[in-house]
Amino acid sequence: MILRALSLCLAAAAAVPAAVPAVAADLTALAHLDPAASRVADEGGGVAVDLAISKAVPYRAFLLDAPPRLVLDFSEVDFGASRPGALDTSDRVLGLAWGPIREGWSRLVAELDGPYRIATAEERVAPGGEGELRLRLLPEDPAGFAAATAAGVPEVARWALPEPAVVDAPRRRQTGEAPLVVVLDPGHGGIDPGAEAGPVHEAGVMLGFARELAEVLRRAGMTVALTREEDVFVPLETRISVARATGADVFLSLHADALAEGEATGATVYLLADEASDAASARLAERHDRADLLAGIDLAGQDDLVAGVMMDLARTETRPRSERLAGALAAAIKGQGGRMHRHPIQQAAFSVLKSPDIPSVLLEVGFLSSEADRKRLSDPEWRARMQGAILAALRDWAVADAAEAKLIRQ
Ligand SMILES: [Zn+2]
Repeated sequence: MILRALSLCLAAAAAVPAAVPAVAADLTALAHLDPAASRVADEGGGVAVDLAISKAVPYRAFLLDAPPRLVLDFSEVDFGASRPGALDTSDRVLGLAWGPIREGWSRLVAELDGPYRIATAEERVAPGGEGELRLRLLPEDPAGFAAATAAGVPEVARWALPEPAVVDAPRRRQTGEAPLVVVLDPGHGGIDPGAEAGPVHEAGVMLGFARELAEVLRRAGMTVALTREEDVFVPLETRISVARATGADVFLSLHADALAEGEATGATVYLLADEASDAASARLAERHDRADLLAGIDLAGQDDLVAGVMMDLARTETRPRSERLAGALAAAIKGQGGRMHRHPIQQAAFSVLKSPDIPSVLLEVGFLSSEADRKRLSDPEWRARMQGAILAALRDWAVADAAEAKLIRQ
């Protein structure tokens, strides 16, 4: 299983000291990437990365293993609407991603076809303050690459990961006496735009949907928190930590992915499982984990969120609660005339659903790969109906869940 394999390999890194421009720059304006004057291309036996930036910025470059990746962090660079695909003309770069990764910082990640070393890294500063960042990667033998990346992630690279939460005991279940605490998780964001259909990307569509849904739920008296409030990258592990820190009664991850399968249309509710219900579900889970990996985040240690035994115990009780939530969502969406996928409830190894004691489901509101779904997602009336259905499902679920909690307590 892909997640297990990933969690076994430790991310390793080799850092190149950051270059800080000597030219005093206007610190208030964002630096912009000029895609037309930039390139990622094969050169000799290696890879050339040339980035033209409107002003020189502090940066750092390092390599990560499994898979081999070059990571470039910048003090914030605005990549604008340009997509990484336009720049990448290298056969040796298997994937290229860029975007904001947290406030004030942007990241570019190039997945490499094998082990390389950073032969040179320099930032030239023009008299006008413009920066040109030039990196040259040359092939490295596996032993050399392993040694270079064995030092671990540079200390600062850990910033994206939360301290693992220490949990004494599974939190008390809601009994209907206090407002239901709902954590909404708009999928993707920042360096990871999610599925794309022309100018529309999943991260933006889901943020808008989550904001609207939050309003609907708040008006109904529920307490709502979002795992991200803007277009920033949030690691999967952090999303779980947000739910825990908020004291969530329920966690709902919101997506609108793309699937190659022509039949991928309609809402689908996903539950956590080791075994995916079908190949498409497995690919979907893999892609979500992969986005984190390519952003330079390793999912290792995710299972350390709580002690293993406690976690298994908690999951045994939580699992049927998540299943009931999935059932309530599917029923409510159908009941309000919403369109469900022909297999409305599916399962796969979604890391974001791994909270042991918080009922968690992932809702594909629709698929961006389906024209019909795209139309529905852009229709405010349709979204309002879908949000009404989610509210109804949460209400129904909360009543049944509270009744069960009271029985267990007695
Ligand atoms: Zn997604």
